[in-house]
Amino acid sequence: MSAIPFVTLDDPRYGVAVQASPLIRRVIANNPSKYTYFGTGTYIIGHGDVAVIDPGPLLDEHRDALAAAIEGERVRAILVTHCHSDHSPLAAWLRELTGAPTIAYGPHGNANVGADFADDEADFATDAAIDATIEEGVTLEETTDLEFDPDVCVADGEVAAMGVGWTMRAVFTPGHTSNHMCYSLDEEQSLFTGDHIMGWSTTIVSPPDGDMRAYIDSLRKVMDRNDTSLWPTHGAPITSPTPFLEAFLEHRLEREAQVLAAVRSGQSDIEGMVKSMYADVREELHKAAARSVLSNLIKLVDDGAVTVEGKGKAARYFPS
Ligand SMILES: [Zn+2]
Repeated sequence: MSAIPFVTLDDPRYGVAVQASPLIRRVIANNPSKYTYFGTGTYIIGHGDVAVIDPGPLLDEHRDALAAAIEGERVRAILVTHCHSDHSPLAAWLRELTGAPTIAYGPHGNANVGADFADDEADFATDAAIDATIEEGVTLEETTDLEFDPDVCVADGEVAAMGVGWTMRAVFTPGHTSNHMCYSLDEEQSLFTGDHIMGWSTTIVSPPDGDMRAYIDSLRKVMDRNDTSLWPTHGAPITSPTPFLEAFLEHRLEREAQVLAAVRSGQSDIEGMVKSMYADVREELHKAAARSVLSNLIKLVDDGAVTVEGKGKAARYFPS
């Protein structure tokens, strides 16, 4: 596999608003996990007259830190990249507190992508509810916030919000979820990438709501832009987007080629493919990896390169 030039975040500094660029402040929630890195980074855009991006999970200390950070300021908009439970739940509280509208692509989509691959068991039949607990009974993260329903639905390319000295524009990037939206900050040529592009890790694409073909198209869409920096919800900004995105895309295409090669070599079930393809990846991530392999297989079936027999965990894959 080609190497992705991941970026690290040395000190998350929980509970305080850190000025990260002239227009960008970030408050990190103390919800570190295998999916959230050091935790959810909530962004505050502007000074005095602000937008908030991804208010974050239901954690009292994060809520209090956000309240302190915006005290005395006017919140004009609450932008949400997607409705996973580490991103959107505090939006309802912030809306109550400030009267600002919540803005997003839309609520959770009942996407049918990959429905043919589902069995009747909940873990395949529903959406991206990936193993939702970690040690010490802490629940998280990549579960879906079905309550979220934005006041304002924005479409690709529209101005999502404007304030004194800043303009946020919607960039529709389905793939990680069917309702994933990035937001650009025109004045700094920056893009807030949510979970679409993260600096510390590849992102989970878990069918049926996650869709690998859409994800790859959305990666190319960001590559065609001229952003000087990308700001993921988890981790540090990516300040050299082009080589990073090229490596990211190459990684995805290599994984797809690996899955196809595995099927062609006689490997017919996902579990076996994960064991051989992800031998160098921590085992706690294998369940997520299985979802990614499934998303690759759905795309390959759709491309006509692979055929499938059976459903859900009983599904077996063969070369066409
Ligand atoms: Zn997510």
